[in-house]
Amino acid sequence: MSRATQFAGPEAAEILAELSTLRERDAPTHGGRVLSYVYDSGLAELDALARDAAELTRPLNALDPTTFPSVAVMERELIGFMRKALNGPATKLGGGPVVGSVTSGGTESCLLAVKTARDLWRAEHPELAAKLARAGKRPRLVTPATVHAAFQKAARLFDLEWDPVVCEPDGSVRVSGFEQKLGADVALVVVSAPAYPNGAIDPIAEVAGIAKEFGLSCHVDACFGGLALPWWPGLAPWDFRVPGVTSISADLHKFGYAPKGVSVLLHRGRRRHRAQFFATTSWPGYPVVNPTLLGSKPASPLAAAWAITKRLGNEGYAELTASCVRSAETIVREASLIRGLSVWGAPSGPSIALVADESLPEAERVDPHHLADELATLGFRIQHQPGFTQPGGVRLPHTAHLTITPVTEGTLPELVDALRAAADAVRGKPQANPRLELLGLRALGYAPKRDGGTFRVPSPDAAWRILRLAGAGGDGGKASSLPGRLAPLMALAERLPAPVAEAILSELLARVSEP
Ligand SMILES: *Cc1c(COP(=O)(O)O)cnc(C)c1O
Repeated sequence: MSRATQFAGPEAAEILAELSTLRERDAPTHGGRVLSYVYDSGLAELDALARDAAELTRPLNALDPTTFPSVAVMERELIGFMRKALNGPATKLGGGPVVGSVTSGGTESCLLAVKTARDLWRAEHPELAAKLARAGKRPRLVTPATVHAAFQKAARLFDLEWDPVVCEPDGSVRVSGFEQKLGADVALVVVSAPAYPNGAIDPIAEVAGIAKEFGLSCHVDACFGGLALPWWPGLAPWDFRVPGVTSISADLHKFGYAPKGVSVLLHRGRRRHRAQFFATTSWPGYPVVNPTLLGSKPASPLAAAWAITKRLGNEGYAELTASCVRSAETIVREASLIRGLSVWGAPSGPSIALVADESLPEAERVDPHHLADELATLGFRIQHQPGFTQPGGVRLPHTAHLTITPVTEGTLPELVDALRAAADAVRGKPQANPRLELLGLRALGYAPKRDGGTFRVPSPDAAWRILRLAGAGGDGGKASSLPGRLAPLMALAERLPAPVAEAILSELLARVSEP
């Protein structure tokens, strides 16, 4: 009798068949029809290589590269590859050598960049740190308002005050905005290459230069662009060539084309890198030395990224990036020609956001969220980005995001046709106005009666009732789902106080996987 038959559960084949059925409802990960979340090289060979490398290393625990030295070799080579791509010195020259760690993703890289800078700041400013603490204040994290939300998360986790520099309505940020904010109580300055929401590269050389004058750490968040911009034509230096840049994050699971779970964080100089580590001998177990946030961790994402960078090399990435450049140029050109639609700001890289052309009367504008909803019915998914009013009142518009990957080129004629058709279908349709929902929420006290009024944050059950009213959770409230069209939900979220919108959206995600 085989051992498996003693288990109570179904046979392996049956379980895998169930999973295959579940997978049928997932958005397609390949083929270029989903223009966010997934980064498809279009090369089946790379997927197979990543799969095989991941499988070979599946049983390892990357917690301890002295027990599993293959992990050390792969990490060393991957960091070496990235150091070269980001023009980091390998020697003491210019404050080097650039060294770093492989992490589980962009968020972990960003969190560690902040933690490292904070710890260095505390060590260098013990008196100021004590003075701020006495005054009930915290050191600041200065970023553009367009910086990835992972930095807000980092500020909350590591007890810093996030102090965003207000951006222009086109999402760009001025150097003068940084100049006004920098001071000795700034633990870290962050700039993006590019920012995810608008695809623009921040004025990195200028900001890093000022940060250096103040003796401050300056991180470049290249999670998105770190494996595309090195081969993107016509860019001013934005990486370790820029004096004053002290660390860079770059995601291998985006334009590195590795499966999810791998990113790198590089630092200028060993001292900075070592400040990232956690080590303790003060417990009765094994000596714990963790360069990153996790303890036990998989080696498979590292192995897959290592294998792919080896196979592609500089030339491979140059070729894949060239395809993204061609597609991005075409989409910027074609989208700008669609009446009522504009490209938001000045993207430099593979992220493009579409916005309504506000220079036209409302009847001729194309609302980007209605466009995204309409485009979904034509087989392409682009990402709704809600609008946002910054402190001081400058409004960043609601937009629709497209991540351009190498497979975009194969779908370009179809995608451009779909964009035109979707725009024609929604032109003149004003932004969704959840007036009735808002009135109801005001009556219940979840939205202020007038600007500046008070409100309360809904409980989980109240948040769920609001979601049901807004059209989410169609499947009897169990396997909850999003409404078919997201524009109304986004418009509602935009108009609610942030803590209320955050509670409602958290509830949506929590209910999705609640047993
Ligand atoms: C994706 C991204 C992150 C966060 O990365 P995750 O891999 O999603 O955790 C941070 N910054 C930028 C600019 C990004 O695009």
